[in-house]
Amino acid sequence: MAWVDLCLTVVNDLTIESRQGRPVADDAGLGEAFADLAANVLTRRFELSSAHVDDLASVARRLHLAVEACIAGDLLTAAFALNTVLAEFGAVPNLHAAPGQAPHLAFHAADAPIVDAWAAESATALAFLVGTRQTHRLGQCSADACDAFYLDSTKNASRRFCSLACQNRAKSSAYRQKRRDQPR
Ligand SMILES: [Zn+2]
Repeated sequence: MAWVDLCLTVVNDLTIESRQGRPVADDAGLGEAFADLAANVLTRRFELSSAHVDDLASVARRLHLAVEACIAGDLLTAAFALNTVLAEFGAVPNLHAAPGQAPHLAFHAADAPIVDAWAAESATALAFLVGTRQTHRLGQCSADACDAFYLDSTKNASRRFCSLACQNRAKSSAYRQKRRDQPR
């Protein structure tokens, strides 16, 4: 599920309006997306350039729509959005093999550029959730002023917040609300 996490990380960096109580600025989001891709073990061997910027943001918006459709239970829309991304970015099962290393199953060509690799792997990972009836594990943060998506890996699918920070914010705002409602 590492690719679902990386997909949601970049979608959150680039396509949502507020995160953890703060508005997300476009430029800052792009910087974060590149930092996240550069730091991730799945993608850090790729060269990142500013030429990829627009492509990355436009794929992220399409994957955002697919994630939203999954959460809304509209799997037909999700399937259509994912199929077009899979086809357009050349998603293909491929054994990345090198001498002295165990071959590794990927869903992008070994020489794919970073945006294509991220798009193909992200769409494949989401398609896997759709095809194996696991889309209930995708969620969107319930805290105020946060639109972040997350993958719920708890056993009973009980997660409601993107992060501990949002969970704590929601808890203290519920507490303040309770104090306000109490008669003095
Ligand atoms: Zn949140």
